[in-house]
Amino acid sequence: MGVPLASDARLASLEGRPPTVTTVCSHSSLQIFHGARLEGLPTIGIAVGKPPRFYDAFPRARPDRFLTVERHRNVPALAEQLRQAGAVLVPHGSFVEYLGAEEFGKIDVPVFGNREVLAWESDRRRERDWLESAGVEMPKRYETASEVDGPVIVKYYGAKGGKGFFLAKNREALEDFRPTGPYVIQEYVLGTRYYVHFFYSPLSDRGYRVGHGSLELLGMDRRDEANIDELYKLGAQEELLKAGIRPTFVVTGNVPVVLRESLLEKIFEVGAKIVERSIELFGGMVGPFCVEGIMTEELQFKVFEISTRIVAGTNLYISGSPYSDLLEPGTSMGRRIAQEIVRARAAGRLNEVLS
Ligand code: AMP
Repeated sequence: MGVPLASDARLASLEGRPPTVTTVCSHSSLQIFHGARLEGLPTIGIAVGKPPRFYDAFPRARPDRFLTVERHRNVPALAEQLRQAGAVLVPHGSFVEYLGAEEFGKIDVPVFGNREVLAWESDRRRERDWLESAGVEMPKRYETASEVDGPVIVKYYGAKGGKGFFLAKNREALEDFRPTGPYVIQEYVLGTRYYVHFFYSPLSDRGYRVGHGSLELLGMDRRDEANIDELYKLGAQEELLKAGIRPTFVVTGNVPVVLRESLLEKIFEVGAKIVERSIELFGGMVGPFCVEGIMTEELQFKVFEISTRIVAGTNLYISGSPYSDLLEPGTSMGRRIAQEIVRARAAGRLNEVLS
């Protein structure tokens, strides 16, 4: 039995009917709607401004209906209407980012997964406390510039959208850094980045057992990041800076990757530790999450970030991935979310997967 995340009052709007999978039209919404449709659930797309026209081009992923708001922050005002429609909100990067983790956490509509987790993810210090106390290896953190003994990346709090990073190849180069807000100095890890798409099911009693349920690996990607990925063509960061260009990590797309098979053991151990610690800290992280890390040449996996909801890299695998095909062919992350809702409802356990 998992941990109850939602009260009966919170789930009252879902009584006696199939939940309506609802999300903001952006990020990974096409596969969320497509997956819900495959599992027989109705869908609502919340459009900011007017519904994106390109949805017409993808009839199998178009939501059954749209609701429109002028801005993301107006979504909570739809709460009554959403409850009447039996909505279950599915958080994704743009939805949470533009509404704000705090506001999202307060919406009085059932949410897929544990909404508590968003507060841990959106605060870099809390996130580090969680991951380090789980026993996960992370890039070293320097309290002051004088301790720096190698290449570093300086990150502002809440730096999102890939901008606002400063790279220094050593302590001397860090002297050029002029902070404009609170920041952290982190070891710049040399290695290969992997973004690993996990799904934790508290309902499942088969597979790779973790916590009260099991951990599934659905896919992996690497992000294309402008303009840092092209840096090597100019030789070094200094060349970019001389040209007046600041390196940024703005994500422009995703590429599929697979890990050396022998490294899968390590990756599962990392995922399991993160889930187990989340159960102790706040009742558990349910559903999709992405562990973002760098594999070094010593084959250590250092985790620099975790996303505690569906990530856009899963858009690569709408018809399955080399990993999800070994679980159940044709399972995207969006479809897996819908499956979990259907299974929880059939077992009378919606309160373990919704909050
Ligand atoms: P973040 O905002 O923490 O997701 O970082 C944005 C990007 O910076 C990542 O996708 C990586 O490309 C890069 N990055 C972050 N932390 C590190 C690190 N400690 N070492 C090397 N690269 C990093």
